[in-house]
Parts: sequence; structure tokens; C-alpha cells
Amino acid sequence: MQLKYPALFQQQCYINGQWLAGSEEEVITNPSNGEVIGHVPTMGQNEAEQCVDAAHKAFSEWKLTTADHRANVLRKWYELMVEHSDDLATILTLEQGKPFAEAKGEIAYAASFVQWYSEEARRAYGEMIPSHRPNGKIVVTKEPIGVVAAITPWNFPAAMITRKCAPAFAAGCAMVLKPAPETPFTALALAKLAEDAGLPKGLFNVVTGDAIAIGGVFTADKRVRKVSFTGSTNVGKILMNQSASTIKKMALELGGNAPFIVFDDADIDAAVEGAMIAKFRNAGQTCVCANRLFVHDAVYDQFAQKLAQKVKALKVGDGFADNVVIGPLINAGAVAKVQAHVEDAVAKGAEALCGAFAKDGELFVAPFVLTQMSDDMLVAQEETFGPLAPLFRFYDEAEVIERANNTESGLAAYLYTRSLGRAWRVGDALEVGMVGINEGLISTAAAPFGGVKESGLGREGSRHGMEEYLEMKYMFMGGLDQ
Ligand code: ADP
Repeated sequence: MQLKYPALFQQQCYINGQWLAGSEEEVITNPSNGEVIGHVPTMGQNEAEQCVDAAHKAFSEWKLTTADHRANVLRKWYELMVEHSDDLATILTLEQGKPFAEAKGEIAYAASFVQWYSEEARRAYGEMIPSHRPNGKIVVTKEPIGVVAAITPWNFPAAMITRKCAPAFAAGCAMVLKPAPETPFTALALAKLAEDAGLPKGLFNVVTGDAIAIGGVFTADKRVRKVSFTGSTNVGKILMNQSASTIKKMALELGGNAPFIVFDDADIDAAVEGAMIAKFRNAGQTCVCANRLFVHDAVYDQFAQKLAQKVKALKVGDGFADNVVIGPLINAGAVAKVQAHVEDAVAKGAEALCGAFAKDGELFVAPFVLTQMSDDMLVAQEETFGPLAPLFRFYDEAEVIERANNTESGLAAYLYTRSLGRAWRVGDALEVGMVGINEGLISTAAAPFGGVKESGLGREGSRHGMEEYLEMKYMFMGGLDQ
């Protein structure tokens, strides 16, 4: 691996400001070719407890620092991420597979959370409320919640970390992090830059290894006051259950099943462009990916043809190769899920306009566009998390709203129409946390990201993302006439 700053490639965990090896190690491979990239320690309960000890101690000092100080440290971390973005993207592409240009985009996005919250650190305002009694004052202050545990996924190995860490540190919290087993090196590189930026020891701890043992400590230890998880709905439910015994605050960013609705009055070319990004970013492996594309009968064939034409032109391959826009999927299980969805749909009458699987063992999938879809197919109910665009035909607005909402998920939705009234009506009616209107890419540090229903709890990004790490304290000051 050619890095300008080789120290970014760390194969040890970062606990209490020290880089620690383990007695056992996990092998990390490149999903593009199966080659070994390196190793990380297999740590468990003891090391997770050490992380919490360190974070608890660091929190007691960090919470007393000024907002200005925290803002400056975060600003430095942001600047280092920007400075080393080529190296960070190289590590990210190696372990995750996404094309290098897209990895650079993720690093910029990840850094933008650190920038945003370096600014927001200064704005954790409280409140004065008119008193209900004479000679009294109602005062509300904001305090950092305490030690936060984060568990993150492999699809955005950098951004899913910074959008938890940055507001946590800005608010005055400390953090213990377990990154995804597939993508630990990006997390450790971020920790290295945090160290360089002057984050005090113990404030940010990164532990790799046994997810169940580490998650057990994170959810049971009384000193951890909040768990922030991004991942599957099933694991989110497990962590919520485990956290019940100590009543922890939870932030859960779970699975989606996003509808992408194209009305007959839409700008079809814009809708096709939007679908390309909403469906195929990160090879379809994002929780806000369009999972069900509903297209009005009057424009269905036109949309299908235009989309398939563009999809056929997408270059699939290794993330470092020129012009590649679709990298490998993360593992064999991910490929098997796409395969199951395609086979189920085709068996029930769907037609594939394009798409193919690589030879055995390879994780490349040439993206699929399926037409003649029906709501009894697997993909209508489950998130594919892969490069498969299924096109469902619809006939009217009320019908498509009902079908779009017919899922336990409620993360993102997209709709394309030229009618202002329809945009508002349908946007209001969709049971989701985020709606893209004539737009396929909605993620930004400036906006609150999160879902409703079984897609989760809480929001990340914007000022609301900072509130997640703050507790309110109400103080009544009485007897002011004395
Ligand atoms: P995916 O299937 O996409 O990998 P998961 O929800 O299984 O999504 O994983 C997301 C994160 O949750 C990863 O860091 C993983 O190691 C972690 N994880 C999975 N199971 C558990 C568990 N029982 N306790 C704690 N963490 C877990």
C-alpha cells in the first residue's frame, strides 16, 4: 500500500491513547481480489472495559474544557482529514471496495461532519423561560451526556464514524467505538489523525474483535450513557434490548426500503439521473438506496429504457481502475442476497433488462434493472443492499402512497414530479424521515439524517445531531426578592 503518511495504516487498537496489539488477530482482505491487506487484534470483554475506563476518565476532564477549545481541536482534526484525504481514501477503497473517486467523496463527506460540529460546539445554547412564580428564574442548561458507545457498519467506514464522534466530542462527551469487522483500518486511521490533532488520551477509543463481547460491555456498563448504532434492524433490536437494563439513550440508524416514485408529470431525464445516484451509489449498499422504484404507467417504458441504457454503461471492477463506478460487493453474503432477489423476481415473472453475476468467488455484480415487478416479490419487502433496480408500475397517487408506505422501514423516499402541490402532498404522506424531491442525493452534514418506524431513533447531522449528545438540566432559582 502506497501511503504518503504510512502511520495512517495501523494494525493495532487505540485504547487510552496507546496502540495495542492482541494475542489473536483477524485477517482483513480486499473484497476486490481477496488479497490480505493486514490484521487487527481480536479483542473482547477486557479490552472493551479498558476502553470504557479510559473514556470515563477522559470525560471527567473534557467536559470541563471550553467550547472554544473543543472547537479548535475538532477543527484541527478536520484539517488533517482533508490534508490526508488521498491516503484515507486509499485505505477505504482497499478494505471496502468502493471506487477511489467515491472513497474520496466519502472522506470529504466524513470530514464535513467534523467541520460542522467544530462550529456547532460553540452553540450548545441553553434557555431562559419566563417564570411561573414571582421572584424566580427558570434556567435550562445543556450538559454532555457522558461516555458514548458507537458501533458502526462497513458501507461508509469513515462517515458513519465522524457523524457520531464529531457531535459527541463537540458536546463534551467521550467515545468508545467498535468499527465494522470488514473495515477497521479506516477507523484506526481516523483515530491516528485524532491523536495528531491533539484529542486527549482516552477520549476516543477504537476496539476491534468480538462484536458480541464488546457490544455486551458497551450496552451493560453503567458508565456508558448512550449507544449510537448504525447497522441492520435486527442487530439494532438486540442492542436496544441489551441497553434496557441500564436505560441508555439510544440512537439507531437501521435499515431502509426506500421508495423512488416517478410520476407521469416528472422530468424523466432528471428522474433517471436521480435513480442512478439513489440506487447505484456504493454499488447499492447504502441504507438510503432506492429499493423499490415505482414508475407511473404512462412513462414506465420510457423510464425503463433510459435507465437500462445508462446502467449498461456503468463500468464494474476494481476500485482503483480507471472509470470504474461500481466496485465489488462487500462479501459473498451480499452477492447471494442480490442473487436471491433476482431469482425470486424472475421466477415470479420479472424481466431483466440488464445485469449479470461474476464467476464463482468474485464479488462483482453487473447492475440489474428488472421490469414487470409485483409486490409479492422478495425485493418489495426486503432491502437488497446491492445493485438491483426493480421497476414497479403504478397508476395513481393514492395507490403509490399506500404501496410506498407498506413496509416496516421508514428511512428515505424520493419522488419526481413537476407539480408543486403533488410534491408537498406526497412528501407529507410518506412515512419516512427524509424525502428527496426531484433529487436523488440528500445526505449532508447540514441536515438531520434519520428514520421513523423500524428504521430507527434519533437524527445525525445538523444542530439536531448535537442535541443527541446533550442532556437538559432545568434549574429553578427562587427567592430572588431576598
Ligand atoms: P451488516 O449485516 O450490514 O454487517 P450488522 O448490523 O450485522 O450489519 O453490523 C453492523 C455493526 O454491528 C458491525 O460493526 C457489527 O460487527 C456489529 N454487530 C453485529 N452484531 C452485533 C452484536 N450482537 N453486538 C454488537 N455489535 C454487533
